[in-house]
Amino acid sequence: MRETELARDFNLTPVINVAGTMTYLGASIVVPEAIAAMQRILPEFVKMEELQRYASGVIAQLTGAEAGFITASSASAISMVVAGCLTKDNLLAVEKLPDDSLTRNEVLVQAGHLVSYGAPVEQAIRLTGAKCVSIGQATQCAPYHLENSINERTVAAVYVVSHHVVDHGQIPLSLFCQIAHARGVPVIVDAASEYDLQRFLREGADIVIYSGHKFLGGPTSGIVAGKKSLIRHAWLQNRGIARGMKVGKESICGAIAALQAWQTRDHHAVRERETNILRLWAEGLQDLPGIHVSLEADPTDNPLERCKITVYPDRARTTAWDLSQALSAGTLSVIVRDHMAEKGYFYLDPCNLHHGQEVTVLKRIIEELNAALSGDKPAITRFEDRLMQRQQAALLWPD
Ligand SMILES: *Cc1c(COP(=O)(O)O)cnc(C)c1O
Repeated sequence: MRETELARDFNLTPVINVAGTMTYLGASIVVPEAIAAMQRILPEFVKMEELQRYASGVIAQLTGAEAGFITASSASAISMVVAGCLTKDNLLAVEKLPDDSLTRNEVLVQAGHLVSYGAPVEQAIRLTGAKCVSIGQATQCAPYHLENSINERTVAAVYVVSHHVVDHGQIPLSLFCQIAHARGVPVIVDAASEYDLQRFLREGADIVIYSGHKFLGGPTSGIVAGKKSLIRHAWLQNRGIARGMKVGKESICGAIAALQAWQTRDHHAVRERETNILRLWAEGLQDLPGIHVSLEADPTDNPLERCKITVYPDRARTTAWDLSQALSAGTLSVIVRDHMAEKGYFYLDPCNLHHGQEVTVLKRIIEELNAALSGDKPAITRFEDRLMQRQQAALLWPD
């Protein structure tokens, strides 16, 4: 089995990922084209700005943007683009960040978009020294909130497209851009996890940010695309705060290759394979006591579905969070998408499976459910206790 070989060499727990593209699991399966590109560039020298200029051309062609470049991650891309809005092309200002004395330093974000992707969006903005101004309330931000929050100190507005954000009561992107542009404010879209490389620029974004290591299957990296002046100002941050966010030649080449491979990938065949996997899971689990299975479309319109597994504790004798924990704790760790576990369900995401792993996933779930059914007492932990356990476990590393 492929997942055991590496595990043996480094003494790791073999992992099957049905959670999605998660940083804490190593993001995604890197496509062969990106691996080859990284191998090819690693022993060579290049003029990095030439390599990034080439990347700009590829990014422009695929996104419809004027220019772009590759960053270390989406998180660093947010900081670099915001920093560029603070400094413009003033090289001394670049070196001075973060700078408390700036008079123009406000970045607007809808309250419902101030989420965490593993770290807070707000922090990526504040790292530059900018002030993050929350507008509206979590579940309602109206056009007037944006209109009246723009003032002479405003340098940018950030818009997050993600399953993490509040999914209602927010200003649609096109209207958000219209209002911001009428007052001369650029709009930065964090679309780290989104499949569509053109939509957000088309809807009016001045800059859009994608992760290279998510759906694209590239190495850990970020992709920024947009207006040439804003891209240039973001790029200049390599002489300042972005030094610590440096991207290597291998990641630039890997991300370019992943972008190009995305264009030629047989998306239809991928979808068909995923649909077959979802069907296998749904059929295999639907008759188990206390389990309800359904298929759910991606909440931000990416062309994919996930298998939603609802666990009814009175009949299953376990909970969504206990089942997730048991699957993860096995000697072969199956990691499910469980950020909604407190509501009694989790998801299985078929996007990051190697051939045949879907069968192992199904087998492990059935095993754990049978164990819960046949145990002396129900395998039920209070959600409050699970939450505290997870928090405490985070503090123990490296032990
Ligand atoms: C994953 C994600 C990020 C962070 O991306 P990295 O490239 O891992 O830094 C930022 N924003 C959103 C919406 C994300 O989903």
